[in-house]
Amino acid sequence: MSDHNWCHGPQCHKQHTQDRIRGVKGSKVLRTKKIKHNSNYRSHDRYNMFNYFCNQSCLMDFIREHLQSLIAIAPRTEALETPILNPERKTHTYHYGFNNEHSYNRTETKIEVDNSRSTDVG
Ligand SMILES: [Zn+2]
Repeated sequence: MSDHNWCHGPQCHKQHTQDRIRGVKGSKVLRTKKIKHNSNYRSHDRYNMFNYFCNQSCLMDFIREHLQSLIAIAPRTEALETPILNPERKTHTYHYGFNNEHSYNRTETKIEVDNSRSTDVG
């Protein structure tokens, strides 16, 4: 197995950056970026996608170009639901200013998952 992937961004080789320039004088090209496996942060789970894309722009280009195929892999045909406890609305008064002479109210809705009704499997 090779030690790298080529960036899967469909427009990667069209971006004008110095690090994409390859080839000998007279036949220079802009080349798709090479991504080495397990280079620093890429090995972390949450950055795994960057083993296949050199940056977020290439990732988004790929999604735009292949959106219908991606959706077809796991189509969402009905809404999902997360059971929650009855939401509590609470209004807090916040004070500010040199002598706390000003205030404003902010109403927040506290939302908590009802784990006793959890539908998640596993
Ligand atoms: Zn790229």
